[in-house]
Amino acid sequence: MPVSQFMAAANAHYYATRDPLGPGGDFVTAPEISQMFGELVGLWCADLWDRAGRPEIAWVELGPGRGTLAADARRAMARAGLTPPVHLVETSPTLRAAQAERLADAHWHDSVETLPTDRPLIVVANEFFDALPIRQLIRRSDAWHERLVACQDTLFLPIAGKPVPGELLPERLRDAPAGAILETSPAAVGIVRTLAGRIAGQGGALLGIDYGYEGPALGDTLQAVRGHGFANPFDTPGEVDLSAHVDFATLAAAAQAAGAVAWGPVSQRDLLGQLGIDARTSALARATPERQGQVLADRNRLMGEMGELFRALALTQRDWPVPAGFGA
Ligand code: SAH
Repeated sequence: MPVSQFMAAANAHYYATRDPLGPGGDFVTAPEISQMFGELVGLWCADLWDRAGRPEIAWVELGPGRGTLAADARRAMARAGLTPPVHLVETSPTLRAAQAERLADAHWHDSVETLPTDRPLIVVANEFFDALPIRQLIRRSDAWHERLVACQDTLFLPIAGKPVPGELLPERLRDAPAGAILETSPAAVGIVRTLAGRIAGQGGALLGIDYGYEGPALGDTLQAVRGHGFANPFDTPGEVDLSAHVDFATLAAAAQAAGAVAWGPVSQRDLLGQLGIDARTSALARATPERQGQVLADRNRLMGEMGELFRALALTQRDWPVPAGFGA
């Protein structure tokens, strides 16, 4: 089967059968590191909404995990006078149950297609696009081939499938060296195109945070994580978290083609810095002196290596203001 089908099936099983962010889980995300992350994302939303003239919006999160970001963002938005209905796009029943504990009155969706159509949408997504299936092409000496995953007994391994016509590839990548890999994410592009079209028509914005690059570029970024370490992506499918780096340039282009304005990407560090993480760190440290060291350590984790690797892309409707952190 194509790598995309393998990744979709493996991750569907993986997320449906566990909370990967809980104690004894496989990885940690920014909202699980510190409440400041969700609070600052909430402030980003509230500020934009305020400067857009305080319309009635729906607030949306894609792939909300344990619901931590949404709960923290909601608290911060409420303090700024924004108390919108919460819509969560989540396919995992296990994670939906975890989200319901923190966000009992939310509305759940299997896909972005069923989100409200009658009002502006403010959409946030942290480490969502990187979990969506990617296609891979691999260069052999003769041509590019679709990369497939073959199964022999219980062993899965990547192989080269049928050759792909060279004309389908960007000119500068056609003669890449043997072994080169090119990735695309039709699923991520499809979701961005849909949401950008909705935002262009209904108003609103999107903030997506992930680790990624500005492609299309060569490289194999499919990775597996288990127990906070790297694993082989083709071993034990459905028992390891599969992700791939996000191609921000391609997502921004898809959004623009659908009529939205694309901003960034900017680094997580720059975004959180501009949204006031240092003021929030000081306030939290003052409010809970016994946790001062931890608050500072968490701040440094979000702003250190992670702050450099993770980047944020924003989309807005043409008439909406410039989002905080993305201006000149
Ligand atoms: N945003 C959270 C969780 C990131 S993990 C955080 O930052 O902590 C990825 C999330 O996306 C999980 O909630 C997972 O169940 C969800 N997810 C993965 N594939 C999905 C899909 N195709 N549709 C909807 N949700 C999906």
